[in-house]
Amino acid sequence: MLNGQKTKHNSGLGPRLATLLLLLPCVQALADWVGEARPMMGTEVSVYLWSDEPDLGRQALEEVFAEAERINRLMSTYIDGSEISEINRLAAEQPAVAGEELFRLIQRSLDISDLTHGAFDITYDSVGQHYNFRERQRPDAGTVEAEKEKIDYRYIQLDEALSSVTFLKEGVRINLGGIAKGYVVERGVNILRGLGIQHAIVTAGGDSRLLGDRRGRPWMVGIRDPREEGQVAISVPLADEAISTSGDYERFFDEDGVRYHHIIRPSTGMPAGGVHSATVFGPDAVFTDALSTSVFVMGVEQGLTLIATLPDYESIVIDSDGSVYYSDGLQTPADAASE
Ligand code: ADP
Ligand code: MG
Repeated sequence: MLNGQKTKHNSGLGPRLATLLLLLPCVQALADWVGEARPMMGTEVSVYLWSDEPDLGRQALEEVFAEAERINRLMSTYIDGSEISEINRLAAEQPAVAGEELFRLIQRSLDISDLTHGAFDITYDSVGQHYNFRERQRPDAGTVEAEKEKIDYRYIQLDEALSSVTFLKEGVRINLGGIAKGYVVERGVNILRGLGIQHAIVTAGGDSRLLGDRRGRPWMVGIRDPREEGQVAISVPLADEAISTSGDYERFFDEDGVRYHHIIRPSTGMPAGGVHSATVFGPDAVFTDALSTSVFVMGVEQGLTLIATLPDYESIVIDSDGSVYYSDGLQTPADAASE
């Protein structure tokens, strides 16, 4: 969620007036922020950028939305004919060929599973598929017991030469929900950079990638208060970086005092407890996306220990008591000494 972000549209000037203005020496007056948000990928995708030419700016917006749409068609398990749905249908029976893009993202997911000792695991979906948060549906205890046996990233075998994916167990399913939005915003910013844009934010759900700064000032990115909708708990000044937050308030329902939400602890097959939100920032949005999910699952201590091993990445975790924890690189020497 972003602070002070406004949606601004092109000001519908008539063609004659526009021509007149273009003839004036002060063309700079047309340079402006352009932005839009659209419901996509089960969440909201937004683009906000500075452009010297509003037409180019609007075209740039459209290209980013088109790219998000393309990636969603490839990687959504909710679309029957998507590439990932085909893999889920076939890969337990035979090697299923994946396009290069999907193959690489699965490969990165497996690397992150190794790094996080299985906290990040795209096979969570054998249990995850039984949730429908809008309908308040969840798997019963028997289903969780049976399905969690199929959660283990080591059941995924990749063949680089054939670009194929094989599942070593019947019933294994993968879902890239914990990494695909980071990929969308990373790709979106690359498109903008290629078009000569120098200042922008691309956001998909809890993942944002910043291009440049906010014209001389850092972007102020707000981390939501996990229990007060619309309230910002902490604002972080950032430029040219990615920031991702995973929260137990994004997709959830409460039942008998228990919050059932969308981040699954692979070892139990149940929603991970102990943390309300985990934020990670650093240079690459694909990585911050997967890491925020990972830190959420790992919890404060293990999660921040992991982040301390990654020099370019920092994290802010809000635990289930509402206490806020910062990774080492964010602590002032005085804070660290008083611990
Ligand atoms: P958001 O979708 O709000 O950006 P996250 O980046 O934390 O939040 O992603 C959560 C999504 O990740 C879930 O909706 C689900 O698709 C997927 N997921 C849930 N648990 C795991 C896990 N242990 N490892 C990898 N992906 C997961
Ligand atoms: Mg994530």
